[in-house]
Parts: sequence; structure tokens; C-alpha cells
Amino acid sequence: MDDSGKKDAGRDFIRRTVEEHNRTGKFGSKVHTRFPPEPNGYLHIGHAKAISLDFGIAHEYGGLCNLRFDDTNPERENPEYVESIKEDVRWLGYDWGEREYYASDYFEQLYEFALDLIRKGVAYVDSMTPDQIREYRGTPTEPGTNSPYRDRSVGENLDLFERMRAGEFEEGEHVLRAKIDMAHPNINMRDPTMYRIRKVSHHRTGDRWCIYPTYDWAHGQSDSIEGITHSLCTIEFENHRPLYDWFLDQLEVHHPQQIEFAPLNITYTVLSKRKLAELVREGYVDGWGDPRMPTIAGMRRRGYPPEAIRDFLERVGVSKTESVLDIEMLEFCVREVLNRSAERRMVVLDPVKLVIENYPEGQEETFEAENNPEDESAGTRSMPFTRELYIERGDFMEDPPKKFFRLAPGREVRLKHAYYVTCTDVIKESDGTVRELRCRYDPESRGGGTADGRKVKGTLHWVSAHHAVPIEVRTLGHLFTVDRPDRIGEEEDWRDYINPESRQTNRRAPAEPAVGHLRPGERVQFLRHGYFCASDEASDSGLPVFNRTVSLKDTWAKMRQKGKA
Ligand code: ATP
Ligand code: MG
Repeated sequence: MDDSGKKDAGRDFIRRTVEEHNRTGKFGSKVHTRFPPEPNGYLHIGHAKAISLDFGIAHEYGGLCNLRFDDTNPERENPEYVESIKEDVRWLGYDWGEREYYASDYFEQLYEFALDLIRKGVAYVDSMTPDQIREYRGTPTEPGTNSPYRDRSVGENLDLFERMRAGEFEEGEHVLRAKIDMAHPNINMRDPTMYRIRKVSHHRTGDRWCIYPTYDWAHGQSDSIEGITHSLCTIEFENHRPLYDWFLDQLEVHHPQQIEFAPLNITYTVLSKRKLAELVREGYVDGWGDPRMPTIAGMRRRGYPPEAIRDFLERVGVSKTESVLDIEMLEFCVREVLNRSAERRMVVLDPVKLVIENYPEGQEETFEAENNPEDESAGTRSMPFTRELYIERGDFMEDPPKKFFRLAPGREVRLKHAYYVTCTDVIKESDGTVRELRCRYDPESRGGGTADGRKVKGTLHWVSAHHAVPIEVRTLGHLFTVDRPDRIGEEEDWRDYINPESRQTNRRAPAEPAVGHLRPGERVQFLRHGYFCASDEASDSGLPVFNRTVSLKDTWAKMRQKGKA
């Protein structure tokens, strides 16, 4: 990854446009943006990109950014989503001040605007069925056909529209449409629908309304009401921009500039809210905040620091052409922050007992272990050391290949921060699995060196058996088995590519005592295993849970993959 995105951060096409407007005084040199989520799901990393642009650009040019809930589809929206969105935007580090708005706050004003358009003769009540409306719309290559109701008088339209609002009609009986051009090459301009009848309660306006505005009708007018200058949105709205402009021109009101940018996509995950909702509903994950989800809530629980997400988004930059970013790039940004900030701890995921035969029974000493080799000010912690320890089962091999530098019969290794030990004996279960490793230690090697200066190649992490604190460790992998699950076509079921092994659990991993003091949300590095975050959830048996945020780079695994070990 190069840093050109970072260097050019002040000069992408959106910022160039904003600067041009500031130079020409188009909006009185003011910058006012908005982030307009629909509260029908949790925010994901793609939304974070929109947030960083909307809030970031406002901030850079001394402007403001509103948080506006685009709540025009009552059946899919609810207050849980509103709350989660606010929490997530705040957590990412952005602040909308007092400017928390709702499209539903403008329903009355939008209704008045619609009456204006009817009076101007550029909106009409259509009484065709939804199917007929679809048929009459035409196709991208063939023009549409005028509705037989298109030429209703202004008086009749006003009367019908008022009665639509009053609840006199059933769903689907009438809609309000803009009267533009049924032969327009852009289908969005073929008399688009402005209002539908929907007899559904709304999470904020209750049963006050039974007609609801469409996105196209609500969005630009809401931008205008709030005095937005630059309305940033994803590229799929590019061919809605003529309509955005048309409505504002007809109303002769403040006219923001819509600017489209390419949405963010990431490998090994999906960012469609519909699909994410399905993963939740069908129980593939434990809710929207499952640490495997690409949601902000999921990434928070997984331990991604907000500054790492912001750094990632800055590196990604902004463009008009759609691209897919490797999830490894996000993980790289996460590691960068955690390597600097996360304290180190020792945890054994798959323990096997190691008994030091020449270490006196009942003796206990402590070692001062550095908390973070990258940050001296992080200090040290005490690690108790005794005759019986746990080490990783995988750190021993009875008959090791040449490049295995860990423990084996007759081999000497270093126990991190403690002593050198040599394996003298292996005790096995009847089925052949190793039950216990017998070792001898060199008392001269305290703290890691020896009198004769001899070197060992392997350094292992360990936990004193008597002092071990049991924790549950969840190692999280990708949600999908293919890098582009968003590309799976209609003839296949995208759910077939959900990774059944996206979460591997060690239900009882011995951890050094200092792990017991970590609070939910705290991030640590478990030596040689990766970065982990203390969860706010407990395990089934009541143990603290740690989710793996991201792996360390595992050179052993890489060598093995390349067949070099
Ligand atoms: P849907 O509209 O299908 O419910 P959505 O993801 O577009 O899903 P919105 O709540 O409408 O959800 O999105 C809020 C804002 O976030 C919009 O301005 C949208 O353009 C932007 N956004 C959504 N997905 C992405 C993405 N992948 N990358 C960048 N911006 C995105
Ligand atoms: Mg949307």
C-alpha cells in the first residue's frame, strides 16, 4: 500500500469541487454537509466512509455536518437503529452537535411543497394500479406511455391528494407523481412517484400520516430545508441527480449540489444491509454487533480502534470508480495502532502441562515483564513463576522437523522473561496424546541469559498453572469463504459461502493473572497469538470472553505454506 491517498487527501475531486465553490462564492463560501442514514439497520464500514467524508469535509472547510435520519419507509425502521447509529457515529469520533434531524420532521413541509407542484401543474394524482404504472414506464430502450390520469385538473389533483392524506383511500389506489416526461431517456425522470399510501405507523410520527414520501422526493427537499451546500452520496444516485435538480428548480428554493462518489467494498464480506439483516435474522451471527460483522458495532466489539478505521478510510481516499479493497489493508491499519498501544499478555490457547523437575515444589517467584516493547512508558507487570506451568501444545513436537525451533526431547528453549528449560521426558495418555512434559531449568538463565552465553532459538510463552485465570478465547476469521461474496449471482445462494469456521473457540484458556483485570473494550496482544479485545459478553460458563481483533503475522504458518518448513 502506498501513501499517495494520504498525500492527496486534500485534493480529491469532491474537495476540489468544494474549493471551487468557495472560490466563486457559490454558497457564500459556506460548507454544510449531512450524513443521511436510513434507520433500517446498523451502520457498516461503507457508511463509515460516507461519515468520514461528510464530517471530514465539513470540518476541513470550517463548516457543519448534520446527522439526518432518512426515515421515510416506516415498515423497515425503528428506534433501536436510530440509537445504534448515534452511538456508532460518536464512537467513530464525529460530532453533529445539536443538529440531529429527521426527514419525518419535514413531512408537513414536504406536503406543502407537493401542493405547490400540483398548483404549478407539474404533479398529478395517478390512479393506475402499481402494475400498470410499471408497464407504462417503458424500458431503458423504449419510451414510456402517458397515464390516462396525467391530465387531471389542478382542482381534481388537489382534492384527491388532500383526501389521500386524510386516509380516504386504500394502499395502491392512488399515488402522487411528478409530471415530467414519459419519454425521457432517464427512467428516473418518467413521472417519478412522490407519495404512496401506506397505512403503517411510523416510529416517530405514529399514525399521523398514511402517505409517505419517496426517497427522491424527500431527500433533496430535506437537504434544501437544512441549508445543505454539498450533498454527498454514492454513485448509484448519479442518475437521480437530474431529478434532484428538477424538484429544487420547480420549487425555486435553496439548491444544494449533489456529488456522487464510489461506494466502499471490502473482500470476504458483504455490505448490503439487506444481506446483513438476513445474517442476523437467520442466526448466522449473534446480532448486528457480532464481532465478525462488518458493522461499526461489530468492529468495536472485535477491538478495531476508531483511529485505525479513520486511518484506513483516509488511505483509501475517494474516487468515482468503484473498487474492492482487501480486508488485509484494514487489518494492517488495525495492527499499526495496536502494535503501538496494546499491552502484551500471555495466554495459552491449547495448554499442555510443563513440570520443571529441578524447581523446588512450593517455590514461587515473580518476573517483571515489559507491558509493551514499543512503549517504555507502559511499564511492567509481575508474572508469577512456579514449578508447574502451561505451555502451548503446539510448541512441543516429539519428532520435530529441522526448522522447528521450539521444544522437543533434549531441546532447550527460553521461557519468555523467565528461564531456559530443557525437555527431559514426555508423559503420555494411553491414546498417545501428550499429558505432561518434564523439563529441567538452568537457574543461571534467570531473565533470559546464561553465564556461558549459549543461545537458544525458541522463546515460548507460558502461564503458571497455579495462578492461571481461565478465559474463553474466540479466534475470528472471515465471514465468507470467497473473497467476493457480493458477486455471487442469482443462480447461486450467497449463503452457501458463509464460512462455517469463522469462529473458533477455546473454552478454557489459561491466562496470566493480569488478564483478569482487563475491562470490556480493553485491547491487548496475547503474545504470539494476536491482538484481542475483552468482550462485554461472558461465555456460557460465565468466563470472560476475548475476541481476536487481528492476527500477528505468523511467519511459521507462512513458511509452512511455502513448503519451507
Ligand atoms: P439501503 O439504502 O439499501 O438501506 P444504504 O447502505 O444505502 O442501504 P443508507 O442508510 O441509505 O444505507 O446510507 C447512508 C449513507 O451512506 C448514504 O449516503 C449512502 O450513500 C452511504 N453509503 C452506503 N453504503 C456505502 C458504501 N458501501 N460506501 C460508501 N458510502 C455508503
Ligand atoms: Mg441508501
